[in-house]
Amino acid sequence: NYYLNEQNPKFSTIEILKKRALYNNSKIIFTTSSPSIVDYYEYFQNKYTIISKLNKPQNNIKLVNMKEEYLSNLLSSKLSNEIERNLNEKKISVLLLNSLAYRQTVLCSECNKLIVCPDCKVGLSYHKYKNIYQCNSCNYQAVKPVCECGATSYNRFGYGLELLKEVLQEEFKSARIMQVDSDSFTSESDYQDFHVALEEGSVDIIIGTYPLASIYHKDITLVGLINIDSLLYKNDYRSSEEVFSVVSKLMMHREAKVIIQGYNLDHYSLIDAINNNYDDFFEKELKVRKDYNYPPFNEISRLLIIGEYKDMYYFANYFKKVFARMSSMNILGPVYINRIKGVQLIVKYNDFERLSKLIIEVKKKFSDRKLIVNFERYPISFN
Ligand SMILES: [Zn+2]
Ligand SMILES: [Zn+2]
Repeated sequence: NYYLNEQNPKFSTIEILKKRALYNNSKIIFTTSSPSIVDYYEYFQNKYTIISKLNKPQNNIKLVNMKEEYLSNLLSSKLSNEIERNLNEKKISVLLLNSLAYRQTVLCSECNKLIVCPDCKVGLSYHKYKNIYQCNSCNYQAVKPVCECGATSYNRFGYGLELLKEVLQEEFKSARIMQVDSDSFTSESDYQDFHVALEEGSVDIIIGTYPLASIYHKDITLVGLINIDSLLYKNDYRSSEEVFSVVSKLMMHREAKVIIQGYNLDHYSLIDAINNNYDDFFEKELKVRKDYNYPPFNEISRLLIIGEYKDMYYFANYFKKVFARMSSMNILGPVYINRIKGVQLIVKYNDFERLSKLIIEVKKKFSDRKLIVNFERYPISFN
C-alpha cells in the first residue's frame, strides 16, 4: 500500500523500497487485488513480471439503479430488505458511504449556486451534529457561510454517514450500529474494540467509508455500497482506478451478498470490475490517460509555495512562464490551499532532472524572499 510521510524528509514507501531493492540487488514482490494503471503499464515495459494471477472468487454483485427508487430514499428497498433479513438471522451488515457529512452538497436558496469555500472554491458540506459547514478540501469551517451573492440561506442535498446513521436508527430501531472511520476512530484501542465487537457479535450494522470494504469476517454476510456515483465523479484523474479497486475488494467477500447502489451504473470501471476483466479496463483507462496527458504518459508533480501572499504568486507565475519555454504542457494553478497557507502548482512533465534543475534556478532568483518551496514527486493527494 502507499504511504506518504509528510514530515521531513518526505518520502513514498514504495519508491524507497524500489531504490533499496536496486541498491541491494534484490527483488520486490507486490501483491494486489487490482494493480494501478501505472504499475500494469510498467509491466508491459518489462519493469515487472507477473508471478501468478490468482483466481478471484466470483461474487454475484447486485447493482441497484436508484432511478427506480423514490427520489428521497437513501436505501433501496432491496438493500433495506436484506438488512432486515440479516438482523433477524443475527448476522452483520456493512454499509459504505464515502462522506462523513450529513449533507454533501449545499446550494444557495436565493441564486441556486454552490456554496463554496472562500479559500479554495470547493463546495462545502453540512455536518449536522457540529452544526457547521465544512470545506472537503482544506477543512475550513463556518457556522453561517455567505454565498457569493450575499445570501445566507441554503438548500442541502446528497448524503453522508451522519444522515445514513439517522435513517438506519429510524428504520431499524433495535439495531446496534457502529461507525468506523478516521474521524471517530482515533486510537489503537478503538480498533481493538471494533474487532472485539465483531468477534462477540455485539454489533449489527457497521457503517463507514471505503477502507471498510476490505474488512472480511464470516459473520459479515451483507455489504452495501450506498452511492458509487460519488466516487465515479470525484475530481481526481485516478477515480476510475479507485472504483475498480473498491469493487475488486468487494468481490473478495466470499460469504457476503454485495449490493452496489447508484445512478450511473454503466461506467466501464464498474462493469469491468464486476466481470473481473482488468485487461479491458486497463485498455479503456489507458486511452483516457493518454488523451489527457496523465500518468503513465506524463509524470505528475506538485509544487507548494508558502510565504508572503504577493511573493508566492509572483514565484508561481514566474515559474509557469519559464516552464512554458521548456515544455508545451500546461501547468495547473496557482491554486491557494488554506491548509498549508500556500499556493499549489500541478506540473505534468516527464524529465525529472530538468524539472528539478529549473526549480533550483527559479529558487535562486527568489533567494532574497522568504519562501518555502516544496517539490513533491508522486503526490498522493491534491489538496
Ligand atoms: Zn446565492
Ligand atoms: Zn477550502
